[in-house]
Amino acid sequence: DLSLLHPRTSHHDRLYGGLLVDGFDTESCHSRYQSAMYRRNSGRRPSPYLISKLRRHEALQRRCGPGTAAYSNALDQLKSGKSVASPECTYIVSISYRGLGNRILAAASAFLYAVLTGRVLLVDPSNEMDELFCEPFPNTTWLLPPGFPLTNYTDFSVNTTESYGNMVRNKVIRTDAAGDVPAASQLPAFSYVHLDHDATEQDNFFFCDDDQRVLRNITWLVMRTDSYIVPGLFLVDTFQEELDTMFPERDAVFHHLGRYLFHPNNHVWGLVTRYYDTYLAAARQRIGIQVRVFGAQPFSPELLEQITTCTQREGLLPQVLATREPTFLPASRAAKSKAVMVTCLKPWYYEELKSMYWEHATATGEVVAVHQPSHEEYQHFGARSHDHKACAEIYLLSLTDVLVTTGRSTFGYVAQGLAGVRPWVMYKPTNGSEVPDPPCGRDVSMEPCFHMPPSYDCRLKQWRDPTKDVPYIQHCDDAFWGLKLV
Ligand code: GDP
Repeated sequence: DLSLLHPRTSHHDRLYGGLLVDGFDTESCHSRYQSAMYRRNSGRRPSPYLISKLRRHEALQRRCGPGTAAYSNALDQLKSGKSVASPECTYIVSISYRGLGNRILAAASAFLYAVLTGRVLLVDPSNEMDELFCEPFPNTTWLLPPGFPLTNYTDFSVNTTESYGNMVRNKVIRTDAAGDVPAASQLPAFSYVHLDHDATEQDNFFFCDDDQRVLRNITWLVMRTDSYIVPGLFLVDTFQEELDTMFPERDAVFHHLGRYLFHPNNHVWGLVTRYYDTYLAAARQRIGIQVRVFGAQPFSPELLEQITTCTQREGLLPQVLATREPTFLPASRAAKSKAVMVTCLKPWYYEELKSMYWEHATATGEVVAVHQPSHEEYQHFGARSHDHKACAEIYLLSLTDVLVTTGRSTFGYVAQGLAGVRPWVMYKPTNGSEVPDPPCGRDVSMEPCFHMPPSYDCRLKQWRDPTKDVPYIQHCDDAFWGLKLV
């Protein structure tokens, strides 16, 4: 079978079923039209409605984006401080902070909100967001240009007076009068939407219908989240019909948003393709193992045991024999090879796995090659080459056929979504450091988990578990308080 020897599928659909638009300059962003060629798993098909929404949104970004008359008018309005009735264009600025996985999920969430509400998405260029990806929208920019009038927007926090939550709490904005929403002239020109881990109950009113009707009349929103808030958007009644039509397969929301938005720039794409071609391309099967470690501890023998038990019990990797003698003839070796790519801040797990498959024969005769692109030791903030590597590794993980992850990591979530793969998630040990039994399980869907969902039911005005009413939203296996689409 030739396709096994040539892993780059020849019949790849470079536009992902119409998700991407043709006609971009190819030189400035090789990954945009090349990435499909590297994917064994062509993934889910986007719905025709999603495709039409994306095309309309691209037109909106062009019509209202930086450099247009509409954009200058909106900036003037922001400086004047007052909202106007029916503004020409409305905007959402997504603040980029924390790790790369967090930043990607935040931008994807803000984008979906922008599509649902007809706002222009502008991404805060800080923390390397302008250094990693190509422009997703043709003939315009998604990066917030320098000179934004709200000079301190990256410092906005739960205490910011202009946050939606604080304006509701301080009765600057009232929503309670029988569903009446304030006239645009009574509203400020901007509001800050705080959906971070410390969001208050009022901040989380963002996920309520009445509050969305108010927010609709505010020209500028600035949003901070480090989470994948999309499951929360599925709880807002007004968005439900649109979301249902855009995403008939609800477990593929980030899969499509991620493949649409995040194209590594040429530098990162060089890191991805050189690594892929050197270490992964020739293997019959590629297995990605994402080991997210925190703190200074260089290794944990229990976690290594969990990785080997999980991969061997689930038949992802072969067992090794006690003997060190070769037991199989070397015939057709290449056709039986597996390439394992470990991503981790530390090198120890990779070294142990590599030694294990070097020093022992496998029970099946399969050849197992183990690789790790980098070991950065700890998470660096604001370091360019570090972020380039992290971005390349997330993307490389997304090109593997099977994923094993340590769970609760946005780094892994992005990889699984881009890949279109349900990962094997290693359970957190509950009994001290003992390896859990079973060591891992298949995730219910490839969607990221929303770690800090609202716990407030807008209609009942009290706490309620949304998984009780909504069949396609479940708690996450790796974070039981979180919510995910299935
Ligand atoms: P999360 O913290 O696991 O949810 O993932 P994030 O991506 O948001 O933040 C973790 C950050 O630590 C990454 O963005 C990288 O900067 C770094 N990091 C963690 N694991 C790895 C890894 O396996 N490889 C590389 N290169 N960086 C990593």
